[in-house]
Amino acid sequence: MRILVSNDDGIYSPGIAALAEVAAEFGEVRIVAPDVEQSSMGHAVTASRPLTYKHTPIQEFEAYRVNGTPADCVSLGVSLWADVDVVLSGVNLGLNLGNGCWHSGTLAAAKQGALLGLRGIALSTSVEEDNSEFETANFEELKPYLRQALQQVLSGYDFPLLNINFPPHPKGLCWTSQSVRHYHGKVVPGKDPAGRAHYWFIVEPREETQQGTDRWAIQNGMASITPLRLDITDHEELARALERTGQ
Ligand code: MN
Repeated sequence: MRILVSNDDGIYSPGIAALAEVAAEFGEVRIVAPDVEQSSMGHAVTASRPLTYKHTPIQEFEAYRVNGTPADCVSLGVSLWADVDVVLSGVNLGLNLGNGCWHSGTLAAAKQGALLGLRGIALSTSVEEDNSEFETANFEELKPYLRQALQQVLSGYDFPLLNINFPPHPKGLCWTSQSVRHYHGKVVPGKDPAGRAHYWFIVEPREETQQGTDRWAIQNGMASITPLRLDITDHEELARALERTGQ
């Protein structure tokens, strides 16, 4: 099995090295990832300038850093390395749950794999502040759970797209739906040190977490696996519209 590994945190993130190490137990691994962090870029693609890559070995892995978005990296990786079977994206420093999936560059890399007819799996974990105030995660502790999740999903399933999230020390793996609870996407004004107005985008949940969702699993200490689809048509609304208009 040929496994293309990408992310949105950039090629030097500890999460991508941990993912590549575990993925190598399941197949041949190549890393193609952004040269700088591209978190919250969603599924942006670079259409107004050319893409280039530089060979950047990470541990024992063939790795390439690209001056583009996560989706660009997957397109380039898949076109330059024949017969890729699956795209793994992550492990992201930070959970990608519920409506956050719309912004996620981690998920977009997996989604680009699915759009190209491959299987795509996004993997994310929660972050904690360490003593130096950097946000990080303990990837050594996470590896057994990563291994278990990949074992479960890489054989016997013919899914196009999966979104997997790990809390610290998961109690188990849980198949879930995407939490679609609404949130306030608030814009909070402030001032920079020179007194100029600036704004931060933050997100606050508005509704309780529903049972069986990705967010519910994480709140209960379980890792969540959510199968996603590329067709975002609201089929109930479409049926209603067709009935109303007699089309
Ligand atoms: Mn990220």
